[in-house]
Amino acid sequence: MPALSEVIAALEALWPPAQAEEWDAVGTVCGDPDAPVGRVLFAVDPVREVADEALRLGADLLVTHHPLYLRGTTSVAATTFKGRVVHSLIRGSVALHVAHTNADRADPGVSDALAGALGLRVTGPLVPDPSDPAGRRGLGRLCELDEPETLAEFTERAAAGLPATAQGIRVAGDPGRTVRTVAVCGGSGDSLFEDVRRAGADAYLTADLRHHPASEAREHALHSGAGPALLDAAHWATEWPWTEQAAAQLDEVSDRHGWGLRTHVSRTVTDPWTARAASSEPATDTPGAPN
Ligand SMILES: [Zn+2]
Repeated sequence: MPALSEVIAALEALWPPAQAEEWDAVGTVCGDPDAPVGRVLFAVDPVREVADEALRLGADLLVTHHPLYLRGTTSVAATTFKGRVVHSLIRGSVALHVAHTNADRADPGVSDALAGALGLRVTGPLVPDPSDPAGRRGLGRLCELDEPETLAEFTERAAAGLPATAQGIRVAGDPGRTVRTVAVCGGSGDSLFEDVRRAGADAYLTADLRHHPASEAREHALHSGAGPALLDAAHWATEWPWTEQAAAQLDEVSDRHGWGLRTHVSRTVTDPWTARAASSEPATDTPGAPN
């Protein structure tokens, strides 16, 4: 069995920590570098339910996309919910490692996995990383559909391709408009509207779209006669496909080294929204609106 330090070196080769945003907190949260690793669980969120799952599974390492402590802390006492997670993991000899914005920018990264879940062909990053001469790393991905679809059909595709959540998929746009090119960004993507417009994508699928940026994108489209339809999925759902991709990447490394690692993907839905009531009178679509 490899030591934790060897497995982490492999993870850091897949998602180099130097490529993380400056504000981010990626890397190993807890774990003994010399401890042997046989079983690894991948998940989006390092929450209590996922930590408990790692313990039940007998995992030696939990790899999550989201950091446990983004802003640092002066205490890991078990009186706090995060301290409780740290205690559970250490007591159960489970290491925790985080690959966040470094996994977003990687090749393949979080948005490649999202595109794959939707059956889209990736043509390149939405915001290329200037330090990558191959032009494959960066934020978001631009994609093409093999055959054009209506927005209504593409919405069905997204709903079928992503794991189910209470939110489902929210859409802004004429359901009959044609979708050929799609921009996707796993996680919160409303800072990338300008890049999506510049790329001329027919639709933009991301998460956490807020009222004002979404409203302005829609007004901009109505004003200019061009602009993407918007699809807003649950944040967790847009990033979950990465856990499968990441597990497959580590499997490949394990095979190459003869490590015999057992990798698992958590199917626990950690989207914080747990229920939804449909409005009693759904808003009607605006026929003929360009967005
Ligand atoms: Zn995220």
